[in-house]
Amino acid sequence: MFFQGKLIVTSHSSPSSSSSRPFHYPQPGRGLYCGKVSLDGLARRFGTPLYVYSGDQIAERLSLFQRAFEGREHLVCYAVKANSALAILKLLADRGAGFDIVSGGELERVLAVAPEAAGRVVFSGAGKTAAEIDLALNANIIEFNVESEVELALLAARARKLKRKARFALRVNPDVFADTHPYISTGLREHKFGIDIRKALGIYKGAGGNRWLEAHGVSVHIGSQIRSAQPFGAAVKRVEKLVGQLKREGIELKSVDAGGGLGIDYHSGAFDAAAKVAEYAAAIEKSLAGFEGRLLIEPGRFLVAQAGALVAKVLAVKRNGKKTFVITDAAMNDLIRPALYQAHHDIEPVKPRPGKARVVDVVGPICESGDFFAHDRAMKPLEPGDLVAILDAGAYGMAQSSNYNTRLRPAEVLVEGGKARLIRRRETMADLLAPEITLP
Ligand SMILES: *Cc1c(COP(=O)(O)O)cnc(C)c1O
Repeated sequence: MFFQGKLIVTSHSSPSSSSSRPFHYPQPGRGLYCGKVSLDGLARRFGTPLYVYSGDQIAERLSLFQRAFEGREHLVCYAVKANSALAILKLLADRGAGFDIVSGGELERVLAVAPEAAGRVVFSGAGKTAAEIDLALNANIIEFNVESEVELALLAARARKLKRKARFALRVNPDVFADTHPYISTGLREHKFGIDIRKALGIYKGAGGNRWLEAHGVSVHIGSQIRSAQPFGAAVKRVEKLVGQLKREGIELKSVDAGGGLGIDYHSGAFDAAAKVAEYAAAIEKSLAGFEGRLLIEPGRFLVAQAGALVAKVLAVKRNGKKTFVITDAAMNDLIRPALYQAHHDIEPVKPRPGKARVVDVVGPICESGDFFAHDRAMKPLEPGDLVAILDAGAYGMAQSSNYNTRLRPAEVLVEGGKARLIRRRETMADLLAPEITLP
């Protein structure tokens, strides 16, 4: 395939390898595996709670997008916020990915593992500081996705100060409804994100007089965990219309950034990732047929969510009235999605016991009713000491973890080609206490 003008040979692995999750039971009695690696073995080696990721699946998902858009100049800019582990950024950078960052810190991460990828970075986010803008100007990123006129003025001021021309794209708000959780829907006029698409033309024209600004592109991002391709097509259609209007005004944009947001199926193992990406690409291509510049896309969740599981140990099984609670050593500080978005995660016993499934709540030890992973879930019998795998935890899991309750964050392991390697050691109390100052 052609990618950034270079010929890259990709191994076309069977579609089944990209279809759902890398976690499976190879044979009865052997327990749950990530690829060729036993989760039981990993838990013994590295302890629990433990995040386990399949690097093979992440690479395969990236190549699904790269192949789907190979007919045009494009760049897949992985949304770093979904999972910012350095080893994962490196894996993606090595395979030609760019990055969508939302902070200076995320840029520092990219620069730490793949300085050569600085020229493949776009900077999104509704509020950027002068220091963050300076960092990105010096790194010579592709473009800043600018979300307000105030931000554009700040960008121009920093560019002038550093004597570096700033390439910008306006992040427009297309007023398209995306059916997802309200906390992660961003494409309506009532949301804080982006610039009203009806005002964009005037702002591009206004920026034309500033020699430190270059109108480079336009961007849109309508939300996250969007399952249907239709709203992506609708949003890009509106963007394409704006691109046409700008062209007639003599402003020729070099890039269209269609954002991220393609969702996965948290409920089932039978999910055809390749078909989903093909459908998504078709919707975008249809709406963007007349555009000859570079297409940028910013998938986060779709690349990493299903590649990851959070492995936890059962501490206790306790009955309170009619309810049975399975209490694990993982908690909401390790994976907050159920508490924050009422999110569903399938949970599998690492070594299923024989016997009838029982309806239980799977919860963490934190003193908050929001500290749960599943309510009223039928689970095979579980005993203290058993391991469970909370699936589809690769995106917005570790990335949103905290030290609430003075809990040490989990270790992380990356599995590639049958080999498991530690990519982040478990935190220690010394790590946690290091920034604190005790007063005499
Ligand atoms: C969060 C975000 C993404 C990634 O969203 P996913 O749902 O993880 O694909 C992409 N672009 C922007 C601007 C974002 O804020």
